[in-house]
Amino acid sequence: MKNFNLNTYVRSNVLNLKPYASARDEYKDISGEMVFLDANENPFENGVNRYPDPQQKTLKTRLSLLKQVSEKQILLGNGSDEILDLIFRAFCEPNTNQIITTPPTYGMYEVLANLNAIAIKKVELNSLFQPKVDAILEAQNDQTKLLFLCSPNNPTANSFNVESITTLISKFKGIVVIDEAYIDFSTEESWVKKLHEFPNLIVTQTLSKAYGMAGIRLGICFASEEIIAVLNKIKPPYNVNELTQRKALERLSQPEKVSEDIQHILQQRKHLLAELTAINFIEFVYPSDANFILVKVDDANTRYFQLIEKGIVVRNRTNQPLCQNCLRFTVGTERENNNLITALKQLQ
Ligand SMILES: *Cc1c(COP(=O)(O)O)cnc(C)c1O
Repeated sequence: MKNFNLNTYVRSNVLNLKPYASARDEYKDISGEMVFLDANENPFENGVNRYPDPQQKTLKTRLSLLKQVSEKQILLGNGSDEILDLIFRAFCEPNTNQIITTPPTYGMYEVLANLNAIAIKKVELNSLFQPKVDAILEAQNDQTKLLFLCSPNNPTANSFNVESITTLISKFKGIVVIDEAYIDFSTEESWVKKLHEFPNLIVTQTLSKAYGMAGIRLGICFASEEIIAVLNKIKPPYNVNELTQRKALERLSQPEKVSEDIQHILQQRKHLLAELTAINFIEFVYPSDANFILVKVDDANTRYFQLIEKGIVVRNRTNQPLCQNCLRFTVGTERENNNLITALKQLQ
């Protein structure tokens, strides 16, 4: 394990911050007979009249078992987008620090950097959509705090090489965030298993994709206990609402159903990949380790609007670096995918 002093990376105002404390944190209702008159809630029971558990204990216990990682190494957020924002606010000094991203990639890293007034150094992926390890390491300066790696990557759908990621985490001087939003569709192992080796690693996951719960907004952050403690200090106390906690717990208690859905999507992905190859204006179908497929067409703007006219909305990625004339298709239901194929065939 490398030498890593977390406090040198935490913003000084965060380091000195005294977090908001709710009385509910201090007094647990052990007997079930405590009277809570501390939070100005409405006393009449309706299922949601009380504030939710700010530490989402039950949910974390379940996730800890499922992911084989200590509860103290988990932080939950209102989607992974909130978690990514917390990471910026914990480690990056506005108008001073810098982050590194590897376009083409998920758009939120740049949005959050702009929102938090943090400079971005972009080091494009190579032609195989893999990170340029040396170029990334050379792009660091004294102000570089974070490196964002998305694997499987959105929108390219591939996973990054294990060796490249290992080198990057080992040699990068700041914190490496691996966004694993699509990990449950991937043949690769999660980096959560490697947290004990890398004190500068943060892994984010979400219930929005494979778990089919984009509507409840639940993001998951895994890191060292120290990093999680810093993020806990700055998170809004009740950032994961009661309905989300309940709904997530319900879904996490049915792992077979989740796997079944994932298997269906993977099967459909296979079917789509084969069908797309046969469309004559599709010039290249990129392999996918996620629940979407990137294709290169003759003219993305034209094809995009033709599909809209047929009532199918896909994602036009033509303006992203290395993605000229590329469209991104989410794998839908069998019926939706067949609609897409039929529509594409009609355009030929
Ligand atoms: C969809 C997606 C997310 C999910 O964000 P949530 O806020 O958890 O819904 C995160 N990262 C990437 C790369 C994504 O594509």
